[in-house]
Amino acid sequence: MQEEKRKQWKIIIVGGGASGMMAAISSARTLGKGNKILLLEKNELLGKKLLATGNGRCNFMNIYCAASDLKGKEEDGIYSDEKKIEQFFSHGALSQLSVEETRQLFFQMGILSRVEGEGRVYPYSGQGIVIKEALEAEIKRLGVCIRSSSNVQNVKKQKDSFEVEMDNGECLFSSNVILATGGKAGLQYGSTGDGFAFAKSFGHQIMKPIPALVQLLCDKKSFGGCKGVRAKGKVSLLRENKVLATDIGEIQFTEEGVSGICVFNISRYVRFDKLEDRLEEKYSVEIDLFPEWSKDELFTILTEKQKREGKEAIDSLLKGMIHEKLGAALLNRVEIKKEEIASMIAASKMEELSHLMKHWNIKINGTKSFKDAQVTCGGISTSEINPTTMESLLVPGLFFAGELIDIDGRCGGYNLQWAWSSGYGAGKAASKE
Ligand SMILES: Cc1cc2nc3c(=O)[nH]c(=O)nc-3n(C[C@H](O)[C@H](O)[C@H](O)COP(=O)(O)OP(=O)(O)OC[C@H]3O[C@@H](n4cnc5c(N)ncnc54)[C@H](O)[C@@H]3O)c2cc1C
Repeated sequence: MQEEKRKQWKIIIVGGGASGMMAAISSARTLGKGNKILLLEKNELLGKKLLATGNGRCNFMNIYCAASDLKGKEEDGIYSDEKKIEQFFSHGALSQLSVEETRQLFFQMGILSRVEGEGRVYPYSGQGIVIKEALEAEIKRLGVCIRSSSNVQNVKKQKDSFEVEMDNGECLFSSNVILATGGKAGLQYGSTGDGFAFAKSFGHQIMKPIPALVQLLCDKKSFGGCKGVRAKGKVSLLRENKVLATDIGEIQFTEEGVSGICVFNISRYVRFDKLEDRLEEKYSVEIDLFPEWSKDELFTILTEKQKREGKEAIDSLLKGMIHEKLGAALLNRVEIKKEEIASMIAASKMEELSHLMKHWNIKINGTKSFKDAQVTCGGISTSEINPTTMESLLVPGLFFAGELIDIDGRCGGYNLQWAWSSGYGAGKAASKE
């Protein structure tokens, strides 16, 4: 194609998920009519993942969202630099589109919302699809050119222009590019990690992506028979007996391990980067099934029950305290037969049992895969991105948004808030370049 005849877009946005759609809106609003913005999406429809969020209800933001709800992976693989996240989120993305402004923006697009427990915000209609539809309608109204079923293969920069290569060999040109291709979580919805390769080709450092907000896989011997049981409690993630993270909520026991929101929230800290960590079983989850009681109080309750109901088998004595399947698993762990007569059990064994009720330690041998994860921990290093504009510090005109960046949040609407705010900031800045 002759240089002078080729179509030059002002901005090409790669990825029509949450952050890409928001970037399209903010850039088109900034540039106005005739904006020359192209939105490329590999799926046949925009926002496919949004339809799966919040169990179909789309928990699209959280009114209490703050920098402390988000984390980065960081070099040591365990802890994130809170000051950097604060810079990115509170002073960067959130200063472009705050929590209240996000809610207002959706309201202007016709979405009434409802605040539920712990500040989680859902569409008032209870149907997540309205979020995707409202964004799409606004993008169309603003005159952004949308190309779905368009799979980007490569992104390059020649002099002042970007070349976006499609998988059919077509090449598109633009002054600025916003990469909003997501991470690798929920890859069945289109986010297969392509953006990491694009960013890497420009020299960006990628913190190794791992699945997060995901079920933990455990040693089955420890809790076999508890499948399907749900119990309220406290979960702590330990590495070589050091507590890395703790959360409270409903724990779900599954065929292969433990699940539930509180488990999801601690899952990002499981790092099996080194094989010996897996082989030496360095990670474990510790479950406190009685967070409101001390070990001594539980011991007193058990021994009083022993006095009162001593003729009963120990498993029936536990029934008023704990789900019978969990009780059976705990008894098995302390090597008490469940049919054993309660009065015959030694005080030392009762001591062990009450300790286990608060410190049930189960070895972890992995997490479920990206297919089952809700978010990616890791991604493009935040040290190479301008926190306010989301522009690459290495390549002028290249912007990033959403989960592709090494920032992830816990369950509760925080990840979508990050996608909206970072997408909004990137779109606005790219249109001013
Ligand atoms: C099952 C599930 C439930 C969730 N529930 C919630 C929730 O209730 N609340 C919450 O806050 N978060 C939730 N999340 C997380 C949240 O959905 C994501 O963090 C958010 O969607 C990330 O937005 P994004 O734009 O960065 O990436 P994505 O939404 O993943 O969008 C990336 C888009 O880029 C496209 N793409 C990728 N590569 C290419 C390419 N080469 N060419 C063209 N297009 C490409 C993909 O097809 C995709 O459409 C959930 C996630 C999952 C998987």
